[in-house]
Amino acid sequence: MRKKIVAGNWKMNLDYNEGLALFSEIINIVNDEITGTQQAVICSPFIHIHSLVQLAKGYNKVAVGAQNAHQAESGAYTGEISAKMIKSTGAAYVILGHSERRQYFGETNALLAQKTDTVLKHDLTPIFCIGETLQERETETHFDVIKTQLVEGIFHLNAEDFGKLVIAYEPVWAIGTGVTATSAQAQEIHEFIRKEIAAKYNQEVADATTILYGGSCNPKNAAELFAQGDIDGGLIGGASLKSRDFVDIVK
Ligand code: PGA
Repeated sequence: MRKKIVAGNWKMNLDYNEGLALFSEIINIVNDEITGTQQAVICSPFIHIHSLVQLAKGYNKVAVGAQNAHQAESGAYTGEISAKMIKSTGAAYVILGHSERRQYFGETNALLAQKTDTVLKHDLTPIFCIGETLQERETETHFDVIKTQLVEGIFHLNAEDFGKLVIAYEPVWAIGTGVTATSAQAQEIHEFIRKEIAAKYNQEVADATTILYGGSCNPKNAAELFAQGDIDGGLIGGASLKSRDFVDIVK
């Protein structure tokens, strides 16, 4: 059975006090209302992480993650945060390769392969993001783009390490736009990703990989998206900033 996960990506939103207040609401509602085996994760800005981990103690349905990590172990990289530092706060997840990191910070597949190695080395779970732009979909190169992101970003891993990561398919044209991929469009890509994993590793590894959908996911469309055979949950941006909406998606 694959792990079902709904991860919130707060991006660069909420000051420290706002973040703690929202997180407190989320853990309380999750605790009251979530009875299944699904895991909720909040990926907050770095400065919130340690306090959120403290708040989450005793609430095992909610884990905490980061939104990025540096590829190096440590050293003269002013302003950066290492995987070891993240791990030492008690966080469990790290988003890698979000399209905003790729677009605004020039993160390449090659760099993301290094980041994945470093994050795994420190026993954190990467949530590895892939997805095509609108132009790539319109020119029908989206399958090639996604395959290249897989091959160059994570297919260097051995099967054991590959088994530790979570993939998030996020079509760039659906992120923050209010335009969600239809459940059929999303399922088509998730099925493709799982087939590529089976071809590279084997069916058992493919069947065990959690693949999340992200891009304008909300309480109205989540149930239909997550009902698709190859969609195992979501990566949620805007709707993770409202406790009620986020927990409804987790539900
Ligand atoms: P969105 O963002 O839900 O606001 O579209 C998703 C994401 O960027 O992870």
